[in-house]
Parts: sequence; C-alpha cells; structure tokens
Amino acid sequence: MRSPWTATVLTILPDVFPGPLGASLIGTALDNGTWALHTIDIRDSAEDKHRSVDDTPAGGGAGMVMRADIVGRAVDAAIARSPDVPVIYLSPRGTPLNQQRVRDLAQGCGVTVLCGRFEGLDERVLEARGIEEISIGDFVLAGGEVAACALIEACVRLLPGVVGDAASLEQESFEDGLLEYPQYTRPRVWEGLDIPEVLLSGDHKRIAEWRRAQAEKLTKARRPDMWARRKP
Ligand code: SAH
Repeated sequence: MRSPWTATVLTILPDVFPGPLGASLIGTALDNGTWALHTIDIRDSAEDKHRSVDDTPAGGGAGMVMRADIVGRAVDAAIARSPDVPVIYLSPRGTPLNQQRVRDLAQGCGVTVLCGRFEGLDERVLEARGIEEISIGDFVLAGGEVAACALIEACVRLLPGVVGDAASLEQESFEDGLLEYPQYTRPRVWEGLDIPEVLLSGDHKRIAEWRRAQAEKLTKARRPDMWARRKP
C-alpha cells in the first residue's frame, strides 16, 4: 500500500504536536491513517549533556542561533526518512505561503518542516541543504511550531476524504482568486437583521450571481493586490 501523505516536523518542542492537528477533521484523518505525522526532536542531535542546540551569534548581537552541525544532523535524519519530500524552513524571511503552494504540497507525498527558535538557524544549513523558506505572514512568532501547524493543517484539509463535502473546498477564499462571499444561516432574522432575500429565493442562478458579485466586491475592497493579479 502507498504510504500516506506524511508531515515530518523538526523541532525542539516535539510535545507541541499534534496539538491542534489532533482535533476535529484533521485529527480524525490522522487517527485513520489518511496522513501521518512524525516529529524529530532536534535536541536528539545535540552532543552535550544539556542537549543544547544554540550558541551566540557570530559577529555579536542579541539572542542565540541554532547551530549548523546540530540542525544539519536533524535535517539529514529527516531526509533519510523521507527523501522525496520538500524540506521547508518556516521563517519570517520566507516566501509568503499561499493557497497555490498549499495545493502543490498537498498533491505531493508530504512535507518536512523545520521549526526555528531563538533568532533562527545558522544560514549554512539552509544553503548546504537547499532548504526553501516559507513565511506564514509579516509578523514574528517565537518559534516555527505554530507556523508548522498552520502549514500542515492547510495541506491536510485538501487531502482526499478529509473534508467530507469536497464541494466546500471548491468555493472557498482563494480558490478562484477571490475571497469568499458572505455566509448566513439560521435564524432568518437575528437582532432585526435579515438574511439577504436572494438567498431565500431558491433561484440558484440568482444566488450564484449574487455570491459572485459579493465575492468580487469584497476582494476589490479588501485585497486590491489579489484583485489586480486576477486573470479574467
Ligand atoms: N530573528 C528572526 C526571527 C526569529 S523568530 C528574524 O528576524 O527573521 C523564531 C522562529 O520562529 C524562526 O526561526 C521561525 O522558525 C519562526 N517564525 C517566526 N515568525 C514566523 C513567520 N512569520 N512565519 C514562519 N515562521 C516564523
């Protein structure tokens, strides 16, 4: 049998996992083997009795940097386990993550993600192993673990069978270069606010047109960058 889509996480905090990846649909899919999660404790590659992984930055300055030799060994262990899987370092300096990249990763056989802590990693590891850097946004986290969860969760929900109704994936934000239209459910009137009449009309063509127009309006207003990139 083909092995499932596998996420390997390199971290000094393996206890963080599965964390949110163990909950709800993503967690059920983990339990039933639709995908697999491995953690590699970077400290297992340390050599001293304190299992330290970091040292002071060359050239001086604040904070600590994760050592090239130790992280390198941990990365090599991950590559030996999953040789055909892209290795990604989560980093605020990376290429911003987007749904297209998530789709590509979900279509492959998995992902190996390297979580930094402190000031990050010795640059030589990234260069020597040709590791791609991906950011989850223009802000700085304390470590890569939450970013790893975000990346993995975004991929796993696209794996076949994870989200029961595949149609719900198709109409989402970004799928069409647009943000999603507004959603409503019961009650029909809440605090004097009605659900837009068209959604109660039962006229599927009109509903689709209304949703499309709303999605376009929202995208233009909130994400002019996305709107400008759209191919008609
Ligand atoms: N000194 C670094 C920030 C280190 S933050 C800099 O200025 O670029 C510590 C770790 O958190 C990083 O090594 C990275 O793995 C993770 N991290 C922080 N912000 C992130 C972001 N926006 N996206 C992905 N990972 C992030």
